[in-house]
Amino acid sequence: MYAPSCIFCKIIQEELPCAKVYEDAHTLAFLDLNPIRPGHTLLLPKIHADTLLNLDSGSGEALMQAMRKIGQAMITGLGAEGFNCLQNNFSAAGQEVMHLHWHIIPRNRADQLAFRWNPGKYADKDEMTALAQKLGGHIA
Ligand code: AMP
Ligand code: ZN
Repeated sequence: MYAPSCIFCKIIQEELPCAKVYEDAHTLAFLDLNPIRPGHTLLLPKIHADTLLNLDSGSGEALMQAMRKIGQAMITGLGAEGFNCLQNNFSAAGQEVMHLHWHIIPRNRADQLAFRWNPGKYADKDEMTALAQKLGGHIA
């Protein structure tokens, strides 16, 4: 349930402090120490999971509900015009803390925040279809 060396498990167990935003039976949310924007919040399941791949089956709905509540509060309470929900899995994707968490980031049109995102193109429809089939074929 808790991983002994995990800093987010220590926060859940109140062995380390946090600026708490929200809590329910399955989830905890607190402010990121290094905000991309003021109000940048981390949302996590209380049961330890390294990544989305080993999230316990009981926490998914609560996490989605909490994400919606926090996003709504950013709009209502912080004057955000939108919000991003971002989630990194494994170090290759930028994950630094190995306890599954979502970054919920309040956004405004004028905030000038940009994510490095360089979209490419497929050579043709056949390449796209083949890749969709390869990927889909591995979904259990
Ligand atoms: P990630 O790169 O997705 O694993 O994000 C980890 C995030 O956790 C970073 O944005 C850190 O700023 C944040 N962080 C690490 N330790 C703490 C902490 N004790 N309290 C709040 N945020 C933290
Ligand atoms: Zn943990």
